[in-house]
Amino acid sequence: MNNTQQDDREGRIKKKIFDRFEDETAQEIKNLKSRPDFSPELEYFVDLLAAGRDPATISERTGRPVVALMCLQAPLELFHVFGLQPFKIFGGAMVSQRLSAPQLPAIMCPMLRSALGELQLDLAGQKGQRFLAWVAPTTCDWVVKIQDMMEVCGIKEKPPFHRLELPHMKDRDESQERWLEEVYLLKNFLSQLTGQKKIKRQALANSMSLYQKSWHVFSKLIDLKRIGLVPELWFMVISNSFFFDDVEKWTTAVEKALLTFKTKNESPDIFLAGSPIFFPNLKMLHLLEEAGLNVSMDDLCSSERIFPGAVYFDDVSEHGLLKALAQRYHQGCLCPTFADNDRRINNIIAPAHKDLFKGVVFHVLKGCHPFDLESLTLESRLKDQGLKFIKLETDYTSEDSQTLLTRLEAYRSALTN
Ligand code: SF4
Repeated sequence: MNNTQQDDREGRIKKKIFDRFEDETAQEIKNLKSRPDFSPELEYFVDLLAAGRDPATISERTGRPVVALMCLQAPLELFHVFGLQPFKIFGGAMVSQRLSAPQLPAIMCPMLRSALGELQLDLAGQKGQRFLAWVAPTTCDWVVKIQDMMEVCGIKEKPPFHRLELPHMKDRDESQERWLEEVYLLKNFLSQLTGQKKIKRQALANSMSLYQKSWHVFSKLIDLKRIGLVPELWFMVISNSFFFDDVEKWTTAVEKALLTFKTKNESPDIFLAGSPIFFPNLKMLHLLEEAGLNVSMDDLCSSERIFPGAVYFDDVSEHGLLKALAQRYHQGCLCPTFADNDRRINNIIAPAHKDLFKGVVFHVLKGCHPFDLESLTLESRLKDQGLKFIKLETDYTSEDSQTLLTRLEAYRSALTN
């Protein structure tokens, strides 16, 4: 096969996968909009997800150049104060991984395999705008190696790439000092990227207030979820769309959406832990509903964990603000890639959470080693507390849906008997 034939063949495969990618997205949008609990207040979030996640679309909406972000530890307020839109890369489409799979290890994080496949579709190139830069905190091995994987997949993104070396022992003073240095290095990187030599202390404080307000409104939504008023499916749609718009506009929309949730779900409550779930692959949430289980709490990085919590500071100097941000993003993060991670498990079994759920559903994507490993210790700790535990390992496919549903139905019976 000569080069032209090879290019034609690749073009045809990409076109086919792109069409299916659009179908998969449209199908989930249709599912969401045809639900009896869909309301005009939720339309904003669904439309954000439906409009796509290429840099041109996000930049046009926010009026800011877009920087791709690989994990949540980099302070979002820093991007904001430099006039940038941080956009966390999640892959959600099942079909896009067919493009990237032949170049990648057979068992790897399907969420990133899907994201890489989506990048191979090169929607950014077609719309004439790429990410201005890539920022990757070194969390799990798949994220550490993302740039290499982009290269082997022939992804055309070639922007500046900045890594933040994440100290994996977060309770040590030395680690916190090192992380603060990384936050300073990020600030220098963003400064060079934008040509903005300095940031005004007051501007940084303003950006911090905006995100603080956003977290506050999001916390109200979490409170409603805790008492069974917000279905996890809608909660996921709202949190998944966080990076798709200007933080203020998204916050205002969440504030309005608070009024739409009025019906209490009386199904048994569970805690949903584990690997992220991202649109349009909402399979697990549909199955939980079908099995008659209500998620009152979760710790997914695509859901409740998008905010590490409030930022507290007394020192209003630039150093004081950066230190407060560094502390919050490092100390507040409950990612399983940390070695001293008792706080993550304690968060689930905290006495304050005792009456909020009866058991834990642990969602593990095949190849997501940090969560897979964590499930080993978590199960015995939960059982000691009298909590029922089920681990569901799955991939980006719908073929295992019936098996998962059968297991969830059995788990529900065990919870209610
Ligand atoms: S922690 Fe798991 S889901 Fe997240 S990037 Fe790593 S392997 Fe993928």
